Amino acid sequence: MDALRPIVSDDTGPAAEAGRITPVMGQYIEIKAANPGCLLFYRMGDFYELFFEDAEVASHALGIVLTKRGKHLGRDIPMCGVPIHRADEYLHRLIALGHRVAVCEQTEDPAEAKKRGNKSVVRRGVVRLVTPGTLTEDSLLDARRNNYLAAVARARGSPGEESRFALAWLDISTAEFRIAERDRAGLMADIARLEPGEIIVSDALYGDPELAPWLRSLPAVTPLPRDAFDGATAERRLSAYFAVATTESFGIFSRLELTAAAACITYVERTQLGQRPPLSPPTREAPDATLLIDQATRANLELVRTLAGERAGSLLAAIDRTVTAAGSRLLAQRLAAPLTDSAAISRRHDAVAYFVSDAQARRNTRERLKSAPDLARSLARLVVARGGPRDLAAIRDGIGAAAELADSLLRSGEIPPELAEASAALRRPDPAISAELASALAEELPYLKRDGGFVRAGFDAALDEHRALRDESRRVIAALQARYADETGVRALKVRHNNVLGYFVEVSAQHGDRLMAAPLNATFIHRQTLAGQVRFTTAELGELEAKIASAADRALGIELDTFERLSARVTAAAADIKEAAEALAVLDVTTALAELAVARDYARPEVDASLDFVIEGGRHPVVEQALALDGGPFVANDCDLSPPPPPYPPAQAGEGERRKGEAGRIWLITGPNMAGKSTYLRQNALIAILAQMGSFVPARRARIGVVDRLFSRVGAADDLARGRSTFMVEMVETAAILNQAGRRSLVILDEIGRGTATFDGLSIAWATIEHLHEANRCRALFATHFHELTALAAKLPRLHNATVRVKEWQGDVVFLHEVMPGAADRSYGIQVAKLAGLPPAVIERAKVVLARLEAEDRISPARGFEDLPLFSAAPRAESVPRRDAALAAVIAKLSELHPDEMSPREALEALYALKAQAAEK
Ligand code: ADP
Ligand code: MG
Repeated sequence: MDALRPIVSDDTGPAAEAGRITPVMGQYIEIKAANPGCLLFYRMGDFYELFFEDAEVASHALGIVLTKRGKHLGRDIPMCGVPIHRADEYLHRLIALGHRVAVCEQTEDPAEAKKRGNKSVVRRGVVRLVTPGTLTEDSLLDARRNNYLAAVARARGSPGEESRFALAWLDISTAEFRIAERDRAGLMADIARLEPGEIIVSDALYGDPELAPWLRSLPAVTPLPRDAFDGATAERRLSAYFAVATTESFGIFSRLELTAAAACITYVERTQLGQRPPLSPPTREAPDATLLIDQATRANLELVRTLAGERAGSLLAAIDRTVTAAGSRLLAQRLAAPLTDSAAISRRHDAVAYFVSDAQARRNTRERLKSAPDLARSLARLVVARGGPRDLAAIRDGIGAAAELADSLLRSGEIPPELAEASAALRRPDPAISAELASALAEELPYLKRDGGFVRAGFDAALDEHRALRDESRRVIAALQARYADETGVRALKVRHNNVLGYFVEVSAQHGDRLMAAPLNATFIHRQTLAGQVRFTTAELGELEAKIASAADRALGIELDTFERLSARVTAAAADIKEAAEALAVLDVTTALAELAVARDYARPEVDASLDFVIEGGRHPVVEQALALDGGPFVANDCDLSPPPPPYPPAQAGEGERRKGEAGRIWLITGPNMAGKSTYLRQNALIAILAQMGSFVPARRARIGVVDRLFSRVGAADDLARGRSTFMVEMVETAAILNQAGRRSLVILDEIGRGTATFDGLSIAWATIEHLHEANRCRALFATHFHELTALAAKLPRLHNATVRVKEWQGDVVFLHEVMPGAADRSYGIQVAKLAGLPPAVIERAKVVLARLEAEDRISPARGFEDLPLFSAAPRAESVPRRDAALAAVIAKLSELHPDEMSPREALEALYALKAQAAEK
């Protein structure tokens, strides 16, 4: 057999000596060359084999043994193999690592090849390219997440102008297809939101110095030759895919948008080898339709995963009460892209409110949804001819569940528009499809159609006949066994089956001779002698075998035909089924959010076009749940970032003027470590996200003027634990905020300036707040341990000081987690250190040092911040401390240090402080 033949002759063979390439190797090299950039899974018998570099890459990535097979041009050929039955699992791992795989199958029976001559090679061809962004199999996909393929196209701006980008993205497993035009920041935010499984760009863009560093930081970016991104042919390629005369029927798109969309389509066609999976016509996502959240903010707020990369502990995990995979995907999508249109947001709130108030409807709907299968993904597989019998069953059950849900919604009378729409979509698929599937499909279904047995008995007369014949023959074989046992007198004689011999008679070794001697040897033909058994065939068995095989073949043929017919029927109704699938997801998300609201006591937020931001009794949705597990209460807190009432700007200005000048407040939150500052900051951002995604919120009451951009940053010191952030990153990120935040933005800054020496940090924080207040004019929360900053409130009318209350009790600090107006009196660092278990001697010593430092501080130039003019370019004249005094101070500081007891970080900080002090003279 081909599979057992060496791919090239072994060492001693004449071919190797001559450096000749064997026919199989020739075929391999040809196929490999036709699929550049892919690992080639080359089918040989029951294995996919990988050769040469592919083998090295795969064996390393998969941890499988690297062997060698024969020689090529005088050198060993590295090889490793993946057994067919585990191929999905290995594919999954390779894809997850960002590899692309070309699956090459034998496209004819090896017996056929043999007919052409003993040396001929079995025909093979690539049947599929598996890439991270174009998967459809459940085993390769995460049921709870969308898997997007995205394409980025760029139009360079004229000199001095910013480049524009078009982003197109689709999920072939669910048919979603969208386009957007963005500036660079918008593009990056979108990629962060979508987390595409694969991004395609032109070779030129991939090598562009402006984008290369970013592109290379993303997983699975595939550069393509320029033809895929050819703007001139884009419209034509798109309309061909959707079989329409012009894409204008989908809306008017810019050439740049069409280019990105066509690149997606072309890539799909190439990877699916010409198949055209059903896609919704592309729709445009307006740049301001969703709340813009950049990558750092998403990570920092732990929206869909924690900083450690876990789903558990994220906001998504805390709020996900969906009962279907499609619902879970939609929830993740909505969380990633909160809306900015207050009317659309209210519509979602209306729908959630409906299920909050009607517990019965909520329970019923959720109960029904639980049994609804993943319609969208089954549909997609059927359409690309990768589906199986269970996918047909999923369509049957999904259509049924959809109709039932629509009925029950209809019975409930008046329902909000969002639900009425969903209900209409649920009825769209033709019930006859579901009925036909129900009558055709058996109870128990195999995973693969080629295993047969999925068509119900009684559905097809011809099928039933062949099956009867097949089963009858099996009974005849059983009878034969009894007869042979009689005839031979061997009680333990068995008729068995395997793939090599087919049906055969087996007796134990001691009886073998009897069957091999006359007269029995006329009937029993010896085939095999094993250690314990001897095997024979008979003419009768051979005949029966042929009968069974042909009956089984015919039965399977009929089943496969039936499958194709049903599949075609489903494919023809794909558009309707897809809409029903989406409606099921909407119902799931809506009831899940209602369930969450009831279970966790969330309130319906008001979202409007103002710049208000009023949260009463707000809680952190994740921390609250974590505390609840330990039985601890979460202390609710208020927040009000609304623009202060007039007079500001001057009362004499007209209403229009006033509104134009209107801007939200900045809250400056001070308080010791562990008081709850970070929690408080994040909870307010999360409440805004929840409100705008259409969820109720963990608060007694919330009124939010739509936020269009959300920024959140943490000072570098907090980040050091993760070992990836530095002061530089902190500053780059802060710069991005100061450059981008506008009046509608919400900005969360947590301990900015902490990653450097005290005076540096304080100055940066100081200037940052001034800039937010004067230039960005956004709503903001700023947590800090620099008390000095509270002095700014005297100068900045929209800056509000708040502090997290702590109580000192018998020398210990007690955290009350209550946010109140005012400033922290001090930082309680030593008390916190004591709580943390620092040795008493160290605590006592620290107190002494603190007292000394505080005494010194009174004469230090840090005082006098109150006089610092806003945005003053000219540095204030120093109070001229004498050089000797500075020197003495540095020496005094030095003598206080205990290098052996310092962490590297503390040492570095001390060094900075000393340097700063030395520079002061
Ligand atoms: P900070 O940023 O001020 O150092 P954190 O926000 O990190 O403090 O909070 C420290 C811990 O205090 C949290 O892990 C949480 O367990 C607890 N905590 C914070 N806020 C609250 C609250 N409002 N109610 C109850 N516990 C809280
Ligand atoms: Mg903190």
